[in-house]
Amino acid sequence: MKTLADFDWRGKIAIIRADLNVPQTANGEVADDTRLVAASGSVRTILNGGGGVVLLSHLGRPQEGKIEKEFSLESIVPAFSLLLQHPIRFAPTLENAGPAVGEVLLLENTRFNVGEKNDDGNLARRYAALGDIFVMDAFASAHRAEASVTGLARCGLPVCAGGLVEAELNGLTRIVGQIERPLVGIFGGAKISTKLAVLQHMAELCDTLLIGGGMANTLLLAQGYNVGASLVQEDMQAEAQAVLSATQGRLVLPQDVVIQTADGTAGQQCTLEQINRGDVILDIGSASSQHYSAIIKQAKTILWNGPVGLFEQEPYAAGTNAIAHAVATAPAYSLVGGADTIAAVRAAEVTEQINYISTGGGALLEYLAGKTLPGLVALGA
Ligand code: ADP
Ligand code: MG
Repeated sequence: MKTLADFDWRGKIAIIRADLNVPQTANGEVADDTRLVAASGSVRTILNGGGGVVLLSHLGRPQEGKIEKEFSLESIVPAFSLLLQHPIRFAPTLENAGPAVGEVLLLENTRFNVGEKNDDGNLARRYAALGDIFVMDAFASAHRAEASVTGLARCGLPVCAGGLVEAELNGLTRIVGQIERPLVGIFGGAKISTKLAVLQHMAELCDTLLIGGGMANTLLLAQGYNVGASLVQEDMQAEAQAVLSATQGRLVLPQDVVIQTADGTAGQQCTLEQINRGDVILDIGSASSQHYSAIIKQAKTILWNGPVGLFEQEPYAAGTNAIAHAVATAPAYSLVGGADTIAAVRAAEVTEQINYISTGGGALLEYLAGKTLPGLVALGA
């Protein structure tokens, strides 16, 4: 695998695919800068080496081809340039974007471009025209075949891993070789369908799976529970059933939850049987938190991706907070990944007590499940 150290950057423009998909506050500011810090190393290395930088990244999940202001990457410019101690020029379109040596150019959200999501070759060539060398540094996006990830790697430019990808792969190869059991996986997050698919792989990898977040709702529905008006994927019942039967006795679902009721009352604890039509499940309940924490204490290795509730909003942070503290204080080796999960760990002020923090969420799980990450193929990793 080629890395930044294999190139002479003098006079060269690097096209860096970074992952600048940071969690945002309600008014669009950077809520957690972990990914910016992680991305800054490669930018500095190339500038110090005498080159220039074009940064490509997605932010959030805008509808393809639509320019939605709330997903504009311009929102990260103040925080990122302060961190880099270097000005960032923002380019709203690909036209006339050409950067110069010594310059950092940030392009608008790649997902605003038609063709990004389906790995369109024409779009990738327009990205490739902006520089000389492709630096793949978006570990958190390495599980996706998109124009700015896999497409760019096919355009004939020299390709190398950025500093973050290099560090993640170095760290993770060491961990994979020495996972001590029992391995307890904790999985949550919103209803993202790709994560339910990854759960099938996690079912094979983990000895126990603790489930929360929107994903739990889909599994509870498959078990016949009423989940009211919660986030749920009714179209994924077959996958949910498959996960349930593959993990009998090893998969743990919440036995109680915190809901917002149909009349808008926030933060009510209730059992699964007490859920009514119109209720929205937004956290695991306190009995479940205690049960999960007790299991976490017994682990030798812990893998956590996905908050178990709407932790950004009181009164739905308690479950995720309890999990963060249980993971931090357990004697096990702890591995935490995902932008929102990292934000939750920081909010709980236990970052220092986690053994390995990965910028990747879905990418981390797929890597640990032994799947080939399309974004790493061109690197020969
Ligand atoms: P990560 O970024 O760590 O990979 P995800 O992006 O998958 O995590 O999920 C984080 C999001 O899931 C958070 O914004 C959180 O509010 C949301 N979430 C968790 N539980 C629920 C729930 N029960 N209902 C709705 N959203 C939820
Ligand atoms: Mg997220």
